[in-house]
Amino acid sequence: MNAHNRRTFLTRAGTIVAGMSVPGCILGSRVCSAAEETSPEIRVSIQRPDHPLINRTFEIVKDRIQQRCPVKVLKTATDAHIILTVDENLPKEAFRLDQANASVRIAGGSPQALLYGAGKFLRTSLYSGSFRPSPWRGTSAPQGLLRGMYFASHFHNWYHQASKEEISRYMEDLALWGVNAVMVIFPMINLQDWNDPQAEPAMAMVRQYAQTAKELGLQFATGVNNTMFIGAPKEIRATPLPDPTHRRGNSGHPICPNIPEGHAYLMENARQLFKRLSDVTLDIVVFWPYDEGGCACEKCRPWGSNGYLTLSRDLAQLGRTYFPNLKTVLSTWMFDTPPEGEWQGLTNYLKSGGEWIDYILADAHEDFPRYPLENGVPGNRPLINFPEISMWGNSPWGGFGANPLPARFQRLWDQVKQVVEGGFPYSEGIYEDINKAVVAQFYWDKDRSAKATLEEYIAYEFGSGVTEDVLTIIDLLESAASHSYKKEPVDANEVKRAFQLAESVHARLPEWAKQNWRWEILHLRAILDHERFIGGGLETPAAEAAMTRLIEIYHCQMETDDPYHHRVRPPLKRATSRHGEY
Ligand SMILES: [Zn+2]
Repeated sequence: MNAHNRRTFLTRAGTIVAGMSVPGCILGSRVCSAAEETSPEIRVSIQRPDHPLINRTFEIVKDRIQQRCPVKVLKTATDAHIILTVDENLPKEAFRLDQANASVRIAGGSPQALLYGAGKFLRTSLYSGSFRPSPWRGTSAPQGLLRGMYFASHFHNWYHQASKEEISRYMEDLALWGVNAVMVIFPMINLQDWNDPQAEPAMAMVRQYAQTAKELGLQFATGVNNTMFIGAPKEIRATPLPDPTHRRGNSGHPICPNIPEGHAYLMENARQLFKRLSDVTLDIVVFWPYDEGGCACEKCRPWGSNGYLTLSRDLAQLGRTYFPNLKTVLSTWMFDTPPEGEWQGLTNYLKSGGEWIDYILADAHEDFPRYPLENGVPGNRPLINFPEISMWGNSPWGGFGANPLPARFQRLWDQVKQVVEGGFPYSEGIYEDINKAVVAQFYWDKDRSAKATLEEYIAYEFGSGVTEDVLTIIDLLESAASHSYKKEPVDANEVKRAFQLAESVHARLPEWAKQNWRWEILHLRAILDHERFIGGGLETPAAEAAMTRLIEIYHCQMETDDPYHHRVRPPLKRATSRHGEY
C-alpha cells in the first residue's frame, strides 16, 4: 500500500456497499415498491440548510446510512422521511426524536445538539440489507457538562499519523456519541524552541485539530504548565521534586515561576502558543501540575497549592486576553502524593478567590483520589475526571487490536458518578474506540450502563443479529486482559471460545461491517489472543498477518527513527526501530 493509500484508506474502508440484494425496504410504515428496491431513496428535509453544521450533519447522516445500505440519501423540500431541525425551545445540548406525520423529526436545541440527535438516530436505526429508521422516540439531555477526549498525538501513533480526512471523520463519530470537547497538546517537551524544525509541523497538527473541532461545534482544549521547551536556559529551571512515591515524574525541563526570568519565559512561550491559535480557536486551557511540571523550591512548594496556582492564574489571565471566553481546568493529578496538604490548600484558596478556575480535574493511576469524594470539591467547582482508557494491561498500546474493558470502566465509574460531571479520557489511538463510547455515554447519562451502550454500538457498527455474540466476545477478551494484567494464567477455554465466536460472527457479518475497521480490530484481537495465549505465539503466519493489518490500520512505521514508536506499534518481529527503543 503506498503512502497515499495508507493515509486515506480508513475514510474509504467500509464505504463499499456490497450485497446489493435488498430483501425489502421499509421506511417508516411504508414499504418501497419493487422498482425502488434497486436504489431506494431516503429523503431528508433540512431546516436552515445554510448553517454549516446543520448541513454537515446531513452529510454525516447520508454518509453513514449509505455506507451500510444500498440506498440514496437525498435532500428534499417536501415528502421527507427524515427532518433535521433546530428547536430553540429545547435546552441547548438536548435533542428530541419524534414523529411528524410520516417523517421522523430529529431536533436539537442547537446545531451541535442536532448532531448528537443524529447520532442517536443512526445508532438506533436498522441496516440489515435495507434501511429501517430508528423507532427511538423521546428527548435526551446530557447530565455531564464537559464530555471530552484527550488525543495524545505523539510517538507516531494514529493521531499523529492519520490524514486530515480520517481525523475529521473520527471526530464526527465521537460527536455523534455526545462528545463536546477534544484536547490536543502542542508538544513543547519534545522541541528545542519555536525554531525547531519540528515546531511548525507540530503546530500545524494542533491547529488542524482545533479547526476540525470548531467546524463540528466541539470545544477545543489544550494544556500549558511549567514545563516548556528542551532548550530552556539552565538558570531558570525548577528544583526537582522529591517524588518519594515515584508517581509524580520529573519529565522534561520544568521552570521555576518564582525566578523572575523563569516566569517571563513561561509567559512569553504561552503567549506565543495563544497567538498561534488565535485565528483558529481555543475554548479551554488545562493546567497540569505533575508528570511534566512542578517545582520544589522554597517559594513554590507545596507546588499544587502554591506556585502552581499562582502560575496557572497568570496563564489564565494571559489566555483570556486572546480568548475572552476561555474556560480553565485545574488538574489535581498526583496532589498529596505524598501528603503535603495540597487538596486542603486548594480548598482554602477557593474560599476567598480563585474565580479564574472553572473546572477541577481529579484522577489517579489507581483508585480515584479520596479527598473530593470525602470532603467535596474545592470551591464547589464541577469535577471532571481523566480515565485512562488506553494503556491498562495493554503493551504495546493497541498492539493486539481492540482493548474493550467495559466492566472495568463501569466499576470505576460507579465509584465516582455521583460527583464527576465529565472528563477527558486519555487516548493513545483508535483501538480503544469501544471504551470511548462507553465513557462518553457515562458522561451523557451517569446511569446508562456500559452494556446498554455496547448493545447500541454493536448493532450500529456490526449490524443486527450479532449483539449477544459480540457482547460475549468482549467479555471474554476483557477476562483474558484482566488475568494477564494480574500475571495470572489466562483461561484457555475462554480464549478459544472468544476466537471461535469471532470467526463465527465474522462469517455472518454483512460486507460493510466486515470492512469496518472497528470490527477488524476486535476480530484481530481475538486472533492474536488465540495465537499468543494458546497457539504458536506471535510468529505464526496468523499472528503476523494480524499484526501487519493492525500496523496498516494504525499507520505505524515498519522502520522508524522514533525511539518511542514501539510503544504504539504491534510487536511484529520484522518491524524495526533504527535508534533503539525507550
Ligand atoms: Zn520554584
